[in-house]
Amino acid sequence: MTDPAARAEIVVDVDAIAANTAVLRERVGRPLMAVVKADGYGHGLLPAARAVLAGGADCLGVAVLDEALALRAGGVTAPVLAWLHGPGADYAAALRADVEVSVSAEWALEEVVAAARATGTPARVHLFVDTGLSREGATAADWPGVVAAAARAQADVDITVVGLWSHMAYADAPTHPTIGAQVRVFEEAVALARGAGLTDARLHLANSAATVALPDTWYDMVRPGVALYGLDPLGGPDPTAHGLRPAMTVRASVALTKRVPAGVGVSYGHTYFPDTETTLALVPVGYADGVPRAAGNSAPVLAAGAHRTIAGRVCMDQFVLDVGNAAVRPGDDVVLWGPGDRGEPTAQQWADAVDTIHYELVTRIGGRFTRRYV
Ligand code: PLP
Repeated sequence: MTDPAARAEIVVDVDAIAANTAVLRERVGRPLMAVVKADGYGHGLLPAARAVLAGGADCLGVAVLDEALALRAGGVTAPVLAWLHGPGADYAAALRADVEVSVSAEWALEEVVAAARATGTPARVHLFVDTGLSREGATAADWPGVVAAAARAQADVDITVVGLWSHMAYADAPTHPTIGAQVRVFEEAVALARGAGLTDARLHLANSAATVALPDTWYDMVRPGVALYGLDPLGGPDPTAHGLRPAMTVRASVALTKRVPAGVGVSYGHTYFPDTETTLALVPVGYADGVPRAAGNSAPVLAAGAHRTIAGRVCMDQFVLDVGNAAVRPGDDVVLWGPGDRGEPTAQQWADAVDTIHYELVTRIGGRFTRRYV
């Protein structure tokens, strides 16, 4: 960073990611697909991938093919599944890079088979059944057709069906009635696929919340994401719940301080007015860096060791704190969120303050922050 006063960092504890992976892997006692999509949930794709593999992950999951290819370009050789493809996806590139692909529809399977024939490489396919999330996956009506086509393609050695899988709508509400309903639909879909000869596929359904709370959904492999980064998938207040350690700390250094009289209007639209003469501290990160604009007058920070709430609106590049008469100086430390063990707010507290989920905060923070790995 050329300007130390503008220092703003996302500090990533890769050992925490490895340790969280090991905790979950040991708890479930079966293979674990570590989800590292969205730039490793904002922690960095390759560092996250290396950390989860060091912690005992058996394979990796990403949404889009480019993420899988970036893993290969970065030297990651572990099995990788990429699951979100539209028409015309470059399945040939996936096959050349030994990337497993998900299939939700017969037309997609035809594209995969065409790529397998063109490259002379059988595709490793996970068939996705929609059990009630109404997102990816074949519906119950389309599933028999997908299964029959996949069984033919497997007999022709164009594909090997290595996974049968689905995704849950309410795993973070472990007693929700849709959970049992999704499990039943999944098991019927699996029975149909097995009856069609797709007998070697691994079954996987459980995201982080299910990995933590729903053992009946673990099947042959679990597929957690957010918990690997130490965030409570059930949204609880204690970041160390379930034996997990948050891996991300977001911090910046105060760029400027100034004494101002009572009643000055602070930041755009003057939505904050100090009651008394006070010191304002300028923090050089804003919504262009992924600090939500909704954090204005709501989100907590730890500034030079004291708790403060952001004063006035968050701007594109900066926000303001009212630090009262505290001896805060340019260069002092401001922690937005972190593990919480040094008094700083947690990502969950930020999520509560700005009415979102910690997933969104960690995956969107970035912009001009630098990442530092410890
Ligand atoms: N599986 C699929 C298909 C997903 O889309 C995701 C993430 O959204 C995950 C697994 C991991 O979910 P979580 O981060 O809640 O563990």
